[in-house]
Amino acid sequence: MREGIHPNYYQAKVICNCGNEYVTGSTKEDIHVEICSKCHPFYTGQQKAAAARGAIDKFNRRYGIKQDN
Ligand SMILES: [Zn+2]
Repeated sequence: MREGIHPNYYQAKVICNCGNEYVTGSTKEDIHVEICSKCHPFYTGQQKAAAARGAIDKFNRRYGIKQDN
């Protein structure tokens, strides 16, 4: 996890509908999500892993989340 690599890139607090909270790098300070690594089927199981991964990628782009920096 690198910090300060972009002026508008910082640690965002993510709050999920399931009640889980975690921190991720984002261009936004606070993010509310409907699904997270704790409750997403991709992480809780391996069903439709490829489809789930695509959904996560879209989801992350939508919220400006970058997980591979
Ligand atoms: Zn969740």
